[in-house]
Amino acid sequence: MGKRGLQYFTLSEIEPRVWFMLTGCNFCCKGCFRPARDEEGIPLTAEETLERMEKACLNYYAKVPSEAMITGGEPTLDKAYLLRLLNGLREKGFEKIVLMTNGYALGMDNDYVRELEESGLTEAHVDLKGFSEDIHRWYTGKSNKPVLSAIEKLNDSGIELLVQTIYMPGIVDEAEIAEIAKFLASLNRDIKYRINPFAHIFAYEKVARRPTLEEMERAYEVASKYLPNAIISRSCYREYPTPPPQKTWITVYPNLKVQRREMKDQAEERLSWLSRIRPRESVVGDWKKEEWDFKLRHSLVGISEAKKYVAKEERGSGSGPVKVKFPRVLHGLTRTREMELDFDGSTTIGEVLERLVEEYGEEFREKIMDGSEIRRSFNVYLNGANIKNVQDIKTEVHGNDEIIILSWVSGG
Ligand code: SF4
Repeated sequence: MGKRGLQYFTLSEIEPRVWFMLTGCNFCCKGCFRPARDEEGIPLTAEETLERMEKACLNYYAKVPSEAMITGGEPTLDKAYLLRLLNGLREKGFEKIVLMTNGYALGMDNDYVRELEESGLTEAHVDLKGFSEDIHRWYTGKSNKPVLSAIEKLNDSGIELLVQTIYMPGIVDEAEIAEIAKFLASLNRDIKYRINPFAHIFAYEKVARRPTLEEMERAYEVASKYLPNAIISRSCYREYPTPPPQKTWITVYPNLKVQRREMKDQAEERLSWLSRIRPRESVVGDWKKEEWDFKLRHSLVGISEAKKYVAKEERGSGSGPVKVKFPRVLHGLTRTREMELDFDGSTTIGEVLERLVEEYGEEFREKIMDGSEIRRSFNVYLNGANIKNVQDIKTEVHGNDEIIILSWVSGG
């Protein structure tokens, strides 16, 4: 019976959700940032994997979650294993099952996509590394024809599809993104497409630098001409300051040992992997520089998770309007990046949001609110402080205050 190496499971602290980190890959991407591609992991059958996943989830959540993300490495290498895993997840009541794949194996086997759907897969995230055959071969070691074919098959299936590309200046840049967007639009203009920036410090080989804000924005503009659902990722610059919603991960190893891992643990895992091909000092140096860069970008826009809310008594109350800045994802509705609202005396974040609903309609509410709460995909800052650390939508707002709404993703 086929076995796949399992590096670990990750459990979300936000809501019950489990990631399967399977090891090994059929690509050799030069810019790979996933140690799982080279790790051996513990070889397990699909049934053994499911059994350990169930124990890990019962121990931590006291129940089996309904969402699973299957990633790696490359999860599609052993079809029989993957189909058994999916069927097992479905039998255990999982409703949302996402596969993160390079797509190659799905394009090489005419039945694979149909069998995935029949086995319960609900969503696929396919990395399309490049549209030009020569770029794709150079970067991954393999042809992109099967990947393009996999995207076509997934688009024709009932599986929800997201395609992603990493912007690498001078390699996969605007011209290449335009070709990808045209190809995707020729299949279906509504395909979701995400452009992520190349992060050279995490990459196995530093084949490119990190793209600039302007480059990412231009790529977004080009892609969105063809694909209304194009976005640039949250790790990009426009909304880079949006802090991740969680700072730790619950990692459960195949022997069921549990470790709460922080960013530094994840960094250490990557550093030791990268140190195999680069001197460790240079890798650590790059990492420190990036951390500094991240903090600098936060401070440039004046927000910080650590920033303390300053009460009205300490800062006084201004008489000017309240300024509201919108994330790009809302610009289609607001038609502006920022606006000002006048209030008689003090108000609250909740009332400001109501005024914005009056201004931009119910669609604004649907986008940003989930019932009476702000959606998880948005963060709202008042004078630089996250309102989640104050009184959420009941946080008081006064004249001259500045509210910044940020989303994890930008774009249309
Ligand atoms: S497909 Fe993913 S895991 Fe495999 S080599 Fe490329 S980036 Fe790494």
